[in-house]
Amino acid sequence: MFPKNKVIFSAAQPTGELHLGNYLGALKNWVHLQRDNQCFYAIVDYHAITIPYDPKDFPKKVMDLALDYLALGIDPEKSVVFIQSHVPEHTELAWILNTITPLGELERMTQFKDKAEQQRGSINAGLLNYPVLMAADILLYQPDLVPVGEDQTQHVELTRVIARKFNSAFGEYFKEPKVYEATIARVMSLLEPAKKMSKSLGPNHCLALNDPPEVIRKKIAKAVTDEGGLAENRVSGGKNLLELFKVLSDDKATKDAFEEQYKAGELKYAEFKPALAETIIKVLEPIQARRAELAAKPQEVTRILLGGRDKARLIAQKTLQDVKERMGLV
Ligand code: ADP
Repeated sequence: MFPKNKVIFSAAQPTGELHLGNYLGALKNWVHLQRDNQCFYAIVDYHAITIPYDPKDFPKKVMDLALDYLALGIDPEKSVVFIQSHVPEHTELAWILNTITPLGELERMTQFKDKAEQQRGSINAGLLNYPVLMAADILLYQPDLVPVGEDQTQHVELTRVIARKFNSAFGEYFKEPKVYEATIARVMSLLEPAKKMSKSLGPNHCLALNDPPEVIRKKIAKAVTDEGGLAENRVSGGKNLLELFKVLSDDKATKDAFEEQYKAGELKYAEFKPALAETIIKVLEPIQARRAELAAKPQEVTRILLGGRDKARLIAQKTLQDVKERMGLV
């Protein structure tokens, strides 16, 4: 059943262009959920600075992500859209939650282990504490549901642990938020289908929401498939592409036909790949057109983000005040 009258929180990092994994794993649901629920959607800039970044480029990245949110259909009249660092209660609550978060829980987080591996020799404490800040982001708004991709479910689980720890130490206060799962919880890389589609793998692994049609055609043409058979335990690139076609196309007969072919091990990639590319282009065209319109009105986007900050702060301040009172912080 589609949720109604719930509080929703989610966020993305301004680390580069949004890709189809972000869209299908999370943001597509954000748009649907805002119809009958109170939604908070943040741009989590404090998370993005836990990995190397360029300060000169950063304001543009934040603006790009705001444009993406709005172009995808996040409606600032219905949802609260804001920048995390504009609401200082996020870092304040994060500090408080740090004091009740077991170190061992942070050290076993898959994302920390992956990113620490990539940054060997220069692992900053922010990378370890990332899930505590994420717990603060979420708990400030006391949401029922958190629509995120599968890669973030471990962090939402830890948020629930932290909420329980707070409740048992200082009295029942936080409700435990649940993950709201997407139809495709994990979109895989085009070139290494064993890994999730991610900006950090490089542009040819991803389909960016902003890719022009000719780039999409080229990337799909080069995408790895399982033509010639799939070695045991290898993740199927062909299946990943088929899943994309299934969620993005509205042509049921063609979907069924490709699925039948795939099941029989006879998917004709020479026909399938161009059909997939055109389907993706058709889905992205209106989003790209809206984005171009909005990009011409940066003051309007800034006005939306500042309005969102004011609305978010009202809720965040109340939660932080309640937390401090319960903890004896006067
Ligand atoms: P990234 O992982 O690309 O840096 P973010 O951390 O900003 O992106 O994540 C934004 C949202 O997109 C999160 O809810 C995350 O779970 C989701 N997401 C990211 N990559 C994928 C993927 N390949 N498949 C499905 N969902 C994804």
